[in-house]
Amino acid sequence: MPTPVPRRSPGPRGEHFAVLDPATGEAFDEAPDQRPEELDTVVGRAHQAWRGWRADPAARTRALLAAADAVEAAGAELAPLLTREQGKPLAESSAEVARTAARLRYFAGLAPVPRPIDDGRPVRSEVRWRSLGPVAAIVPWNFPLQLAAAKFAPALAAGNTVVLKPSPFTPLATRLLGSVLAGALPEGVLTIVTGLEPLGARLVSHPGIRHVSFTGSIPTGRAVAAGAAPSLARITLELGGNDAAILLEDVDVERIADRLFWAAFRNCGQVCMAVKRVYAPARLRDQVVEALAQRARAAVVGPGLDPGTQLGPLNNAPQLARVESYTARALADGARAAAGGHRLDRPGHFFAPTVLADVPPDSPVVTQEQFGPVLPVLAYRSVDEAVAAANDTGFGLGGSVWGTDLDRAEAVADRLECGTAWINHHAELSLAQPFAGIKESGVGVAGGPWGLYGNLRPFVVHRPEEG
Ligand code: NAD
Repeated sequence: MPTPVPRRSPGPRGEHFAVLDPATGEAFDEAPDQRPEELDTVVGRAHQAWRGWRADPAARTRALLAAADAVEAAGAELAPLLTREQGKPLAESSAEVARTAARLRYFAGLAPVPRPIDDGRPVRSEVRWRSLGPVAAIVPWNFPLQLAAAKFAPALAAGNTVVLKPSPFTPLATRLLGSVLAGALPEGVLTIVTGLEPLGARLVSHPGIRHVSFTGSIPTGRAVAAGAAPSLARITLELGGNDAAILLEDVDVERIADRLFWAAFRNCGQVCMAVKRVYAPARLRDQVVEALAQRARAAVVGPGLDPGTQLGPLNNAPQLARVESYTARALADGARAAAGGHRLDRPGHFFAPTVLADVPPDSPVVTQEQFGPVLPVLAYRSVDEAVAAANDTGFGLGGSVWGTDLDRAEAVADRLECGTAWINHHAELSLAQPFAGIKESGVGVAGGPWGLYGNLRPFVVHRPEEG
């Protein structure tokens, strides 16, 4: 029986945990299970390294640019390892490595701008910006490298040092990334720790950590906020989503079907801001279901390392079980699977790309984040009803509106309660834009200059014009 979740095992090199290939369900390597007691030393070193790192912005820029080059140069090693432990198709892993380098390069070019305050008084005050200290970065398993870079690139550019903990499901590519970056960054500036819980819990509550930058699920986000409360470290939380896509009456279904399908199914649906619910006008519902179902049936599912694979396996056994149980519950409640609806009869964590019609609106596959290759399509009678349904949730990450009249689509998008609303697209992000979920989907802002300032504190110098 393959091990379903990472477990501790003592070995000749100290304690380790197994890392599974989701395409087979079998362990293929292991990673060190670091003890929480080691964090005192790790955070202490990050604190020491901060002194030199924060002092020289020009040296930081040079180091981050060199780091970006090093990541690109290591792409041929990083991408297959990422696919092996995460499951995504190799081309998507290569794109993730490229985005990791791009984030380093983008933030290397950003610097905070001091701002004079002119309020008419005879005072020359100025807001300057100071780094915070060691930052704890904790990331999930769906985009291990690019989400890590989304945290450490702005934190490092701001002059902080970082202790990064990847998910125990995907520690290996991150460890390799750490060795690649070690050639470009001074010692102690970026440290990667791997291990099972309570390593993350102890990291976020460590008194030497000044900012906790977390991406993951809402329940863990709550635990992280509580864990960081005693030290009053700053928190930035990027949490789960349940994004709705609203199709308007004038939508050209065939024209948008590919884009809509891949906005839901890319990375096997394991994307925080994937389309997770579709609202279609009642008149178009069957056409939309069939257009998406056709694509689901045609998608090539297989191991990420096989050329031609478009959809890999789910990353891990608990995730597969969650997707399976939400789907089974929807089918038991009267939903119809226009495509898929079941796990695939083969080793590994494969689930058939699934399009569901006639789903009761209170079914968990609609109300919760199922985070897999399953898409419910719901019919609506008025746009007001669709907007109300899209907003009737504790999630608030993203949303989209699809139609031919762009002004009308934008007017509807403006009514969505979320951090980012797209028109005729979904989940397209620029490095330069802010990324901030609302409601239970997040706290704080990442991305663009906002992400840099999220890693800085204002420092005001107040000086009279005359002594
Ligand atoms: P998760 O919350 O289970 O785990 C995330 C990370 O937290 C992992 O590294 C895990 O080991 C660690 N962790 C677990 N318990 C902890 C604790 N008590 N204290 C500190 N760290 C702890 O999430 P997951 O299943 O790995 O990832 C999927 C979730 O991530 C989904 O909900 C998805 O929407 C979300 N996500 C959000 C974004 C975003 O930008 N908003 C991006 C990607 C994924």
